Amino acid sequence: MERYGFESLVTYLTSHAGSLIHHIPKVRNLFVRKARQAAYEYLIQKNPDRRPILVQMEKLQIALNLLDTVLNRIEEGLYSKNAVTRASTLLIQELILEPTGMTRDIRENFKAKYGRRPPGFLVIAPTQRCNLRCKGCYAKSHAGSGGTIPFPILDRIMREKTELWGSHYIAWVGGEPTIYRSQGNDILDLAERHLDTLFFMYTNGVLIDRGMARRMAELGNILPQVSIEGFEKETDDRRGKGVFHRILKAFEVMREEGVPFGIAVTPMRHNCDLLTSDEFIDFYFNKEKATLAWVFQYMPIGRDYSLDLMITPEQRLRLLERERELLWKKRLFYVDFWNSGPLADGCIAAGREGGYFYIDGNGWVMPCPYYQFSPVNIFEVYQNGGNLNTIYDQPFFEAIRKWQDQYAYARVGNEMGNLLRPCPIRDHHKTALEIIRQYQPRPEDEDTERWLQDETVHQGLIEFDERLAELMDPYWKNVYLKEESEEYKKTTSLKREIQAQAII
Ligand code: SF4
Repeated sequence: MERYGFESLVTYLTSHAGSLIHHIPKVRNLFVRKARQAAYEYLIQKNPDRRPILVQMEKLQIALNLLDTVLNRIEEGLYSKNAVTRASTLLIQELILEPTGMTRDIRENFKAKYGRRPPGFLVIAPTQRCNLRCKGCYAKSHAGSGGTIPFPILDRIMREKTELWGSHYIAWVGGEPTIYRSQGNDILDLAERHLDTLFFMYTNGVLIDRGMARRMAELGNILPQVSIEGFEKETDDRRGKGVFHRILKAFEVMREEGVPFGIAVTPMRHNCDLLTSDEFIDFYFNKEKATLAWVFQYMPIGRDYSLDLMITPEQRLRLLERERELLWKKRLFYVDFWNSGPLADGCIAAGREGGYFYIDGNGWVMPCPYYQFSPVNIFEVYQNGGNLNTIYDQPFFEAIRKWQDQYAYARVGNEMGNLLRPCPIRDHHKTALEIIRQYQPRPEDEDTERWLQDETVHQGLIEFDERLAELMDPYWKNVYLKEESEEYKKTTSLKREIQAQAII
């Protein structure tokens, strides 16, 4: 009881600290220094899971890159007071003060019961409907498609993820979250009821006008991540004529109102190099002032899937090298769902520790948006008296978590599997199929049912995996693991440099 009283005090102080961080540079610098030190001590000095040192240094560097960009954006006056307050409150509680919090008790109780720490967040499609009809959409969304999660259920999921898992993060995907409507509520009404949660909203951005941007700035807990495909030609080709200019308008009103935003890109065979080019980076980070970028390589699943749109293994290696330059030289937060496997210790699907489940607009719960098979429906779970832990308990998900453990997550140092090809459904396709065939989860819909029967796509993915292993395994060994290699030796000076950044 006393501890929770202390936690209320901490919450009070940290929420006021957010306001000070926003207004007073000296307080801001002190906070940043504390955050850097805490990250350095945890990742490099403590290294509790005994990961390879270069893996830990990349995690620290990406955190420092994000912190520095955020600091610059605050100084440029691009974030609202509430955005700074909400994010810093969470960061202080998670990174600096977490050991004293109720969150710690929840996570430890979960571990005592299930043998692992709980998932860290959920990816949810509040609605499967969308106002656009993009080519090759993995979610197969359009105006007439799919269901919508009723507001009270969404609200309950939000509450339970905090009460049962100590989680304060949600990613909204689509469909298009900004068109969500249920019982007179929109998606921002939900964010307003859960101010202790940060919402990453993956959106096509075209409906973000000044009114919506102003509401988001006032709430301060919504971070829109806007999908783009390159510049005007590439974006309009895939998403529809005029979309690029509407996105630029959305960026403008978000900057003016103080909403931090990022971009989300989908590398395909034709635009892969463009998405990491200097011109592209300069435009979105320096001119448009994005804070971060997420990379979702095209996956041959969903609407009109095609192996020919997927990047080749050679392109993937090139993409990795360029992404590492953006990490180490350009100092950006540019994170790839696949190539950045080292940053997350591998695949985070199926409710892995700190990872997530995906819930679609019809309530089907899946390992992730690209692994479109479900053993359980949240609407039915609630009707039958269950809760989010009923989902966690499904044998199909446990089988994936076991694979993650055996491949890399439960291993230490050089014994870890190659984190540069972490994905069961794409990089270890045979394994994913075996798990699907053994546990017989329900395909998400008819498209996925057809996909499951399509031997051509499976064969294509298996051949992709074989070639990927030929390219990525030597890279993993020589760059990340081999201590006598030139690349690895550089880690000593990098370590000093990181240390210097961390204790500035
Ligand atoms: S299954 Fe693949 S795409 Fe999904 S979280 Fe794991 S690595 Fe990422």
